[in-house]
Amino acid sequence: MIDVKPIEHFDFHKSPKGRVLTIYTGGTLGMDFNDSGSLVPCGFEQILERVPVLKELQVNISVISFQEPIDSSNVHIEHWQLLASLIYDHYDQFDGFLILHGTDTMAYSASALSFMLEGVNKPIIFTGAQLPIASPRSDATENLVTSLEIAADKKNGKPIITEVCIFFNHVLLRGNRSKKVESQHFDAFESENYPILAEAGISIDYQWSYLKPYAKDFIRVNPEMDNNVVVLKLFPGLNKITAASILLADAVKGVIIESYGSGNVPNEKWFLDLLRESAKMGKLILNVSQCNGGRVMHGKYETSSELDKIGVVSGHDLTSEAATAKMMYVLARFSNLRDAKKCLRTPIRGEMN
Ligand code: ASP
Repeated sequence: MIDVKPIEHFDFHKSPKGRVLTIYTGGTLGMDFNDSGSLVPCGFEQILERVPVLKELQVNISVISFQEPIDSSNVHIEHWQLLASLIYDHYDQFDGFLILHGTDTMAYSASALSFMLEGVNKPIIFTGAQLPIASPRSDATENLVTSLEIAADKKNGKPIITEVCIFFNHVLLRGNRSKKVESQHFDAFESENYPILAEAGISIDYQWSYLKPYAKDFIRVNPEMDNNVVVLKLFPGLNKITAASILLADAVKGVIIESYGSGNVPNEKWFLDLLRESAKMGKLILNVSQCNGGRVMHGKYETSSELDKIGVVSGHDLTSEAATAKMMYVLARFSNLRDAKKCLRTPIRGEMN
């Protein structure tokens, strides 16, 4: 059971341009120095003290904080379920949602939420920072302020963003297309296979043709995620015993193969036989590329030409993060292998082309 603090309302304005529910989970962004000079998670009041400009935005903010803010390396399915249910329970009361989250697993969480929440037609924005808010050169202020603006933004009375996104270092990205690519510089996220959705310069420049259009809808939650999943990253020298221990493990129901280039795997007999045996055991096998850009194309090279026959599903241009989250969602949602494979092949939240 994950505890949250009671909701706090910061109603700065009588007629704000929007009301945003901020869910504070932890991560570097919300850290401040304690008396002995170490960085420790701080509360939203301290964030407000550090970023007084938040009061100037024409946005009223409500905040729900995790009782124990976490490093996002400790995120698990229960955290995603909590986030999904907080958004669902407060959906009608807010114009948008902001999730303050560590960067390390943000792309996984944004992907997971995109699958767990169906019928979204309001902004759900993840952000964080590479440097704590307490640090003079922190990127936290810019990420926080612009994310709040985007979460409250509307055109003709309708939300502009109607999906789960990540805003970081001036760019808005589709959540389930994003990847953390940098741990040292401020440009931590990229989405190689889908254009950026907006760029924040002097104004917020939305790329209208890439945005999911607004549709009248109502939100549904698919809370179940099955984590009997494993990612097998191929590397030259992978041996039969270790590959078999993953591909044939009883506990494993879904395998994401991170293959080479455009979906290539060693086409030696022992490896293809293992894949065949794994598929026969009823495991779902999804092939995504180790490359950040481009896509899997079964049959382009001889080294991937057997995969369709074996029953391996092409992950096309899915990121490994989105593939992992989608596999968990699909395994929980479909008991029939055919339906599960069909869903894996079909773009359901803009996660693949
Ligand atoms: N380890 C931190 C986290 O993901 C890093 C960050 O917030 O950027 O929670």
